[in-house]
Amino acid sequence: MALFDPKAKTIASYQNKIKENNAAIDKNYYEIGKMYCDQYKDMSLDVTKDINSRCDKVVNLEKDNDALELSILFEKGLKLCKNCKKENSLVHAFCFACGAKFDEDSSNAPSLPSETEQASADSAPKADEEKPSEPVAEAKAEEPKEETETNLFV
Ligand SMILES: [Zn+2]
Repeated sequence: MALFDPKAKTIASYQNKIKENNAAIDKNYYEIGKMYCDQYKDMSLDVTKDINSRCDKVVNLEKDNDALELSILFEKGLKLCKNCKKENSLVHAFCFACGAKFDEDSSNAPSLPSETEQASADSAPKADEEKPSEPVAEAKAEEPKEETETNLFV
């Protein structure tokens, strides 16, 4: 719908990335299953290493997806309570549901997985938005570029 809204565009790109990651996760699961069966058929095979490396990939892809989900929430003005996982407004200092205190940096942009960072860096120039009526200066002022480096410890 609101494809001209830069936020919606960003969210859509995150959602696409999650879809890609899920497809990659499925592929890894498929390969793991196949290797396991190959080993079952021929006990002289040892596919442990290959299976483990794919399990690592799945774990990393799932981590990336968690980070992407957080970024989507951030674009929507929301953050997750670390304690009860309920969605809160970015401005909340305490969770509305369980009362847990949010970290001071909890309303900052969450750090994205490295792969996605590169991908979004490619499409980074916010200036060429397809919204010619919108003042470009405003879009630039919102750009939290330097955030990605300072947030690595999260
Ligand atoms: Zn909570």
